[in-house]
Amino acid sequence: MPINQTIREKVYTTPLIDTHEHLIEESIRLAGPKPGGRLPCDDWAYLFYHYSLSDLTSAGMTPQENARLFSMEADAEEKWRIFEPYFDRCRNTGYFQAVLHTIRGLFDEDRVDATSVGRITEKMRSGVQKGFYEEIIRRRSNVESCQVNSLEGPLFMETEYPTLLYQDLSFVAMSTGLDLPKLSAESGLPAETLDQWHGIIDWYFDRYGAKAVAVKNQSAYSRRLNYENIPKEAAAPLFARHAKGEKLSEGEMKAVQDHLFRYCVQKATDYDLPVKLHTGYYAGANSMPLERLRQNAGDLCPILRDFPKTKFVLMHIGYPYQDEFIALGKGYTNAYIDLCWAWIISPVASVRFLKEFLTTAPASKLFTFGGDYVTAETVYGHSKIARMGIAQALTELVDEGWMTEREALATAERIMRGNAYEVFTRLKE
Ligand SMILES: [Zn+2]
Repeated sequence: MPINQTIREKVYTTPLIDTHEHLIEESIRLAGPKPGGRLPCDDWAYLFYHYSLSDLTSAGMTPQENARLFSMEADAEEKWRIFEPYFDRCRNTGYFQAVLHTIRGLFDEDRVDATSVGRITEKMRSGVQKGFYEEIIRRRSNVESCQVNSLEGPLFMETEYPTLLYQDLSFVAMSTGLDLPKLSAESGLPAETLDQWHGIIDWYFDRYGAKAVAVKNQSAYSRRLNYENIPKEAAAPLFARHAKGEKLSEGEMKAVQDHLFRYCVQKATDYDLPVKLHTGYYAGANSMPLERLRQNAGDLCPILRDFPKTKFVLMHIGYPYQDEFIALGKGYTNAYIDLCWAWIISPVASVRFLKEFLTTAPASKLFTFGGDYVTAETVYGHSKIARMGIAQALTELVDEGWMTEREALATAERIMRGNAYEVFTRLKE
């Protein structure tokens, strides 16, 4: 079905607000590769490092091949020999398509093959200069600003570019990850009692609450989202035992985490910070327990009910259980659903999701883009896929008689950036 030209024009010229990235600081990128880190090499293979690596693994690439492919030791020829058979198996996935769009759009190369990989490396390296994040994100991708959940160490990254790369305050280490030594050292405060730990959490919110765009927690990678209401009196003795180095039972540890998670959600609400939660699909390969993921939406209902003033941003549409997240967006005033990452996990499911969401839940409850990348270049390719998907979904809704063209244009404006401006109040400052 051909894409409606008026809709296409609107979707391609409207800047996106990007609600989720893991971009490393540009200065770290400029400093060059370091083995084992988030920038293990700086040739063409690097474009396939974040996310595509998961599909390569799923398609059978061995750990030895993967180590060579993303090392600085192997030359272009060896890397291509390792890559080629798996490329053939994976090239249709969203992860790969995002990279191929990037290579086409940013480096003007139509094919990835033995002859082009050297040129791609040269063009990529020559582009890495001070200011290239702004060039790729704003000018080439037409993304107005990003919201970064930094994985580089600090809970809040004091970025070089605060109005291009808005930052989330991570509350994993305050609640579910419970990193006593790190937070105690950073704040200079003791962490022996629950009261003291509350003091440390308060310290982080005092210091970063006004700068952060949101708070973020991805503990769905390690536990269910059934955070129960555990009173301070019940959690305090457990916390004190944990702080002394005693090993808590699974149930006791859960109780401490549950209490602290809710404490942090309340703090975020006091600071008018939306609470972003990872839901659904896992990054990586060979680790995802689907029986836990499928409980995410149901597990969240008590939290949504108990914190009516909190704006919850439920990330990645809970894929592959996205129908339930449409129900949450429709049924709970404080539930916002975010397509971040989803376009490249499953582009076609995301088109279907967008159509179903827009005819089911209020259009104000949706965010439509987050690249979810460590690598700046691939944000470009992901934004291309998101725009293709948004234009296709809106075209189909108009063609099938569910909305008028005029309504589709207004909806594009709202879901691409209007909703983000309404919900993330820091963006207006
Ligand atoms: Zn992420």
